[in-house]
Amino acid sequence: MEEIGLPKRTRLFLLSLGCAKNQVDSEVLAGRLRLAGFDLVAEAEEAEVALINTCGFIQPAVEESLAAYLDLEQLKAEGRLKKIGLLGCLFNRYGEELRRELPAVDIWAPSEAWDQVLAALGRQAPPGRAVLPGMTAWSRYLKIAEGCDNRCSYCMIPSIRGPFRSRSLDAVVAEAEDLLSQGALEICLIAQDPTAWGRDRKEGELIDLIDALEKVLPETVWLRLHYLHPQGVDEALLERMAGGGQLLPYLDMPLQHVDDRILSSMNRRTTGKRAAEIFRYARSLDEDFALRTTFITGFPGEDSRAFDKILAFIDEQELDRVGAFSFWPEEGTEAALLPRRPRPSTAQRRLETLMSLQEEISLRRQNRFVGRLLQVLVEGIDPSGLAWGRSFRDAPEVDGEVQFPAGEVEPGTFVTVKVTEALEHDLVGEVVQP
Ligand code: SF4
Repeated sequence: MEEIGLPKRTRLFLLSLGCAKNQVDSEVLAGRLRLAGFDLVAEAEEAEVALINTCGFIQPAVEESLAAYLDLEQLKAEGRLKKIGLLGCLFNRYGEELRRELPAVDIWAPSEAWDQVLAALGRQAPPGRAVLPGMTAWSRYLKIAEGCDNRCSYCMIPSIRGPFRSRSLDAVVAEAEDLLSQGALEICLIAQDPTAWGRDRKEGELIDLIDALEKVLPETVWLRLHYLHPQGVDEALLERMAGGGQLLPYLDMPLQHVDDRILSSMNRRTTGKRAAEIFRYARSLDEDFALRTTFITGFPGEDSRAFDKILAFIDEQELDRVGAFSFWPEEGTEAALLPRRPRPSTAQRRLETLMSLQEEISLRRQNRFVGRLLQVLVEGIDPSGLAWGRSFRDAPEVDGEVQFPAGEVEPGTFVTVKVTEALEHDLVGEVVQP
């Protein structure tokens, strides 16, 4: 392989932007770069080579990726960086146009084309996966599929990441075992639409993959599902989640809306009635079932009556976790061309109304845990001796946390906490046993 003048032990900085799926892709690249002899560093200023695994599905993310690139371009202009690489979704989306505009980039590669990156660095390396600097080994994402066939009218992802394709059952199980050997206590299963897993492979369905994973993982490991499309959630899956196995009773099911006319123009292929049925059934199985969803306010055609349906829905369903975004008319999407878009100020006002109602609901749900015991995965301890962690109700990065005096506990372990106080999103307590 042709050497490109980089010393054997080269310091390399890899910035991973965007979603958890991109983070997994970055970890796969990091694993191979390590095996190829690169030292991964936490700051671009410490590095000789810097790579960005970009995000490009919406304008604010495009701007964030370009801003990160400009920082590296400056370091290169100062002679502090030898090589810059721009990888992933931004290149998937803007390819050749980007090459013309960013001449300082040395290495280009679409998502997951990591052989191309290694070749451009004059190296080769077998498959691997490594924790990125600053991330933890005990909570890991496991990508079970890539791409999406759903074509929601506001989303660019199918055109950036391609059609839906499941990873084989064996590949997913093998990676889960690898993550376990690297210290994973929680494995978060992700894809654009995990409920579609297996359909393109004739290897069974999502629940069969869960079966296979639960067989190889110790009972103490948490399995968490994310981003379930409501169209693919059925009673059997909910019963499995409530069944007390490794799969947590945590339902993350983005709805985006509950008004059927809006859902239809979003091309979400579900209804408000079905969404209510799913959440009600989950709670009928387990009153503690943790329910998470997201909504978009200000979608074209949304009037106050349609918006009020979201407020009535969250009030009736008493959801634990709700995220909300105001509509963004992303260039290249069908939704960007739809008429009767509410003013951005209206969308923002509706978002604030929704989130303030959810604060009250969330606090009601949190209060249910005061006086009870919760298993908590310890994430960290601050200099004052306050520890924080997550229970089954808290997914990484998006939900709340549980705070308690650290005592003897160690990050990356499970402890049992007695909850003494509830806040809108967080719980406070004390450790009752290591
Ligand atoms: S399910 Fe819809 S929103 Fe999610 S990635 Fe697919 S097209 Fe985009």
